Amino acid sequence: MAQALAAISRPGVVAGIVDDVYRLCLAERSGELADYIPELAAVQPDSFALCLATADGQIYGTGDDTTSFTIQSISKPFTYALALADRGPAAVADRMDVEPSGEPFNEISLDPVTERPRNPMINAGAITAASLIDGRDPAERFDRIVRCYSRFAGRELTMNEAVYASEARTGYRNRAIGYMLRSFGIIDSDPDEAVDRYFRQCSVDVTCRDLAVMAATLANNGVNPLSRERALSAALTEQVLSVMTTCGMYNAAGDWVTTVGLPAKSGVGGGILAVLPGQIGIAVYSPRLDAHGNSVRGVAACRELSRRLELHFLHVTRAARTAIRSEYTVTQVPSRLRRSTDEMAVLAEHGHRARVYELHGDLLFAGAERAVRIIEEQAGELAALVVDLHRVGEVSAIAVRMLNGLEAELAATGCQVAIVDPDGKLGHTVSSLDPTDPRGRVFVDRDTATEWCENIVLAEYRPADAPTCTSLSVEDHPALAALGPVECSRLATEFEIRTIARGEIVAERGSTRSGLYLILEGRVRIGFDGADGRNHRLVTLSAGMSFGEIPMLVGTPFVNEVRAETALRLAVLPPARFDRLTDQAPHLKLALLERLAANAYAQMDAAVRGGDY
Ligand code: GLN
Repeated sequence: MAQALAAISRPGVVAGIVDDVYRLCLAERSGELADYIPELAAVQPDSFALCLATADGQIYGTGDDTTSFTIQSISKPFTYALALADRGPAAVADRMDVEPSGEPFNEISLDPVTERPRNPMINAGAITAASLIDGRDPAERFDRIVRCYSRFAGRELTMNEAVYASEARTGYRNRAIGYMLRSFGIIDSDPDEAVDRYFRQCSVDVTCRDLAVMAATLANNGVNPLSRERALSAALTEQVLSVMTTCGMYNAAGDWVTTVGLPAKSGVGGGILAVLPGQIGIAVYSPRLDAHGNSVRGVAACRELSRRLELHFLHVTRAARTAIRSEYTVTQVPSRLRRSTDEMAVLAEHGHRARVYELHGDLLFAGAERAVRIIEEQAGELAALVVDLHRVGEVSAIAVRMLNGLEAELAATGCQVAIVDPDGKLGHTVSSLDPTDPRGRVFVDRDTATEWCENIVLAEYRPADAPTCTSLSVEDHPALAALGPVECSRLATEFEIRTIARGEIVAERGSTRSGLYLILEGRVRIGFDGADGRNHRLVTLSAGMSFGEIPMLVGTPFVNEVRAETALRLAVLPPARFDRLTDQAPHLKLALLERLAANAYAQMDAAVRGGDY
């Protein structure tokens, strides 16, 4: 078991709200202490604590939040959880129903038709749940209960002997319930043992903070957010929270759901625990009770918190929004591969046949439905599309199925799909290189996926006889092409031809001016290593393009690494020769600089459009 975890309350905006609610409810002094268990009447009647714990383990506590009190009926959902885990939901359902009773918690009754306790949150159901706990002997069975509660609380809890002795001495009504259960065959073991275990579980001491962490563990799908220990499976957490919703507040359940709207459980010790699944746990301690046996201030504080923090679980915050964050064509936002002029012309005309859809948020059914619907509506026009999931949070199982279905559906109509899924949320393997894979291609970033789609458009629309400048001589390179033949050959002699193997670094990040580089053949990638361990591409350049101008002209070092993406042939004008040209052949240098300037503006334009929208 994890050590007690010191969770420190945080000051700030949220603590301020919790304090306001605390102060507001402090004035409420009505209600009486439970005294049918004599020891319960011995507590400070006006003690008051309020605690809120987030599903990621932040605690906001105020008042007497480290004062111990007995858990009482708040133990019921946790013992029920353990019985479910021990026996399985079906065996437990054979012994008790899950219907709200509309009766007080200690009613001596069974459902007249099923002859079972109506639910596990009233005493009859809770005593039955206590009878279903596994263990070799009574001591081990109770020990397992305490360990279960302790996992939820994130610290070792213990039993309050005085309260236990007090209830054991006076608990005739619960014994009557135990015997009734035995006579109806709901309990098939010793009813005294089950009732004794129930008394003991009700006497476990907790603080308001403990209850808040227990609630946060339920909110966090069964995993304690402080110790990170799993206390209950996700499926059983859902079951327990369901029963708390309909039956947790006894015969005040309807009023509770309408005014607070959170699965909850109260105890006659003065505690209330409430859960907003996925978000927070709330606990209140104040021992004066109303006629139902619920803490008066506890109910008031939960109402107020629910109202102020908009916690009601049926509160409709907004209509389900589409999961599409933005969408555009590859003409509007091209890849970072600098294309040749003819390729750019083809993409300008036909790029609308490849679209990028960026999704965001958590993909649950409704958001995924809208996204899939919009994509389906437009897909008829498309040759290729990108679905970018890199900003998506959780992808529910149904959304995975819908996206896979969409891919298969589009593939059947001849539209190719690129999925950007760096974290493998759809469960494909990244870079399934098989282009016939009906599920489409998976990429780690949007840029390469966009490039892939551009290639599909180009393959379809580029005239078959289009010139492809894959290999140039220095004289043919556009940087020199505007010069007359004599000058062109003269300038060409200043360049050195260099070949570089694929993957080699041409210029390191931070290296000083080393030449003006013209690409004659192959591609270079300018990029940087990101915090995610991947190399991010800023731009890919190919034959006919140039780099190294800024270090050369401005004198600043290379800001990013330049690497050979394929085998390369470069023409390099070394710095000394570049400098010498000013005196020796100023007109050649001017012509070169004019070309470089034109090129730089074209590149800037592409970079601006390729930005993150
Ligand atoms: N131990 C108490 C009883 O059975 C618990 C009741 C409660 O908290 N509502 O009477």
